[in-house]
Amino acid sequence: MGNIPNDYSVLFLQGGASTQFFSIPMNFLSSDSTADYLVTGSWSKKAVSEAKRFGNIHVAATSEDRNFCYIPREIQHSDKPTYLHFTSNNTIYGTQFAETPDAPGDSFLVCDASSDIFSRPVDVEKYSIIYAGAQKNLGPSGLTLVIIRNDLVENASENLPTMLQYRTHASKQSMYNTPPTFGIYILGLVLKWIRNSGGLDAMSERNAEKAMKLYRYLEESALFQPTADADSRSLMNVTFVTGDGELDAKFIAQATEAGLDGLKGHRSVGGMRASMYNAFPSEGVDALIAAMKQFESEHA
Ligand code: PMP
Repeated sequence: MGNIPNDYSVLFLQGGASTQFFSIPMNFLSSDSTADYLVTGSWSKKAVSEAKRFGNIHVAATSEDRNFCYIPREIQHSDKPTYLHFTSNNTIYGTQFAETPDAPGDSFLVCDASSDIFSRPVDVEKYSIIYAGAQKNLGPSGLTLVIIRNDLVENASENLPTMLQYRTHASKQSMYNTPPTFGIYILGLVLKWIRNSGGLDAMSERNAEKAMKLYRYLEESALFQPTADADSRSLMNVTFVTGDGELDAKFIAQATEAGLDGLKGHRSVGGMRASMYNAFPSEGVDALIAAMKQFESEHA
């Protein structure tokens, strides 16, 4: 992750990214404050609905008008937001922020990086809170990573159950209660693997190479089309369709038989989704493209 500066805490928590959807507003919002949210998919929508329990939420941008197939460029902030929240990679819709949005004025930047954390270098200093469920690029489910600036930890609400205050976990190095030990152990191994593979620069290069191969083929294909706008495409989750639900189902069935599993898209997008997290090998993308070409030659 590049370097995490000393004035940040790294917390190993439980409850998944979904628990952070409410923990963050619970710790930092009140009925007389407002937070801005960029709504780019169902995960950010869920974050908004949880945050509404604790303060005023302003949707500063949304791409819901086109079923979240793009990253919005026009952002209308509220007057004095406490923080700006965004989802760096939209797992279901196959879109990803290419650049980090700016938090306006004195507000701080919060990022749900569940599905692209450690896929590329991150300038941690631009963020005040980065959180992620471990299960994509970090390790097994059951562990949630939170990187949070210490001044926020100190200033957060004290009127909360002990386990729900960031200061509890920051002051005890995530060992206030029994931490998710197995997940933390595996995370350690994954981080060593990343370091031995060349670090985040190498991850980023590898991920771009894998995704661009597939997008290049999709651009040329007479049968398969990508669903995300060209300037918004994710390097982690590539979503595509044939335009015919029956053909999609047939392709998924054939691909599954050939050992290419898990290609069915989320029901809100349909079609196919190729998830290519850090651990997914380049040869897997080659195999997928070969299967798609074969299917195209039979059905285009
Ligand atoms: N945010 C994003 C971007 C996700 O992809 C997911 C699902 N993996 C979540 C949040 C919810 O994560 P969890 O299951 O850890 O609560």
